[in-house]
Amino acid sequence: MLPSDNHVHTRWSWDTAAASTMERSCARAVEHGIPAVAFTEHIDFTEWTDGDGALPSMEVGDRPRVQPLDIDGYSTDIQRCREMFPDLRILTGIEAGEPHYFPASVAEVLNSGSFDRILGSLHSVPIDGTLVYADAALFGRLEPHDLMDRYFTDMVTLVERSAVFNVLAHCDYPRRYWPTRRTGPYRETDFEEHYRTVFRALAASDRALEINTRSPLASVELIGWWWQEGGTAVSFGSDAHQPWRVGDRFGLAVDVVEAAGFRPGRDRFDYWRR
Ligand SMILES: [Zn+2]
Ligand SMILES: [Zn+2]
Repeated sequence: MLPSDNHVHTRWSWDTAAASTMERSCARAVEHGIPAVAFTEHIDFTEWTDGDGALPSMEVGDRPRVQPLDIDGYSTDIQRCREMFPDLRILTGIEAGEPHYFPASVAEVLNSGSFDRILGSLHSVPIDGTLVYADAALFGRLEPHDLMDRYFTDMVTLVERSAVFNVLAHCDYPRRYWPTRRTGPYRETDFEEHYRTVFRALAASDRALEINTRSPLASVELIGWWWQEGGTAVSFGSDAHQPWRVGDRFGLAVDVVEAAGFRPGRDRFDYWRR
């Protein structure tokens, strides 16, 4: 039995193609035997509003494609899909980018709709007072270990300062762009203390860690660190931006999470738990 996919994007996300409809994603979930999907569209911000309280000197790097979420359109689509797919549980959600820097902006979105799954995400690294998107280009600017050090350090701040989310998404996001050819393979053990510090903070606030199947898959050892630091729940997320990726590699992810000791939760829609 496969777990719920708690991290799916559709055309309502600013970075997702119009052909990636909610309807096709639902059809894929049913076909795959996924019991529930959460449509966690991107909520990203490029400027501060009053009350965000970010460091006054912090700027947001260039992200010209970011668009606000059309909550009315999204909600109507959710309703329509719930009617079309009565046997699939369809959850609402958002993926909040850098919620620790934009608390008022995130709260405004949350107040304007109803959301079952709130993912907290860090996609950027603060460099000299600017939040810079962590992609392959940034690995060209910073020494790779230095980049990851900065990333994990800011993630601890995110977990400690933001209580708005209930699942921490892709806890080592820049790893997707790790320059293996130049630097050799990414080794989780190089960052063990960072992972453990993030996990301790997350466990202390009783939230779930995501195993993200779009990123290089976490090892059993890594999920074991989550267990050892007191983690109680694991959320599965494909981070699909195309319908065919809904539930992708969930068989493998289940094996990893199970080998680390976690088991299915209260029902088939729940997180996996210790
Ligand atoms: Zn993300
Ligand atoms: Zn995502």
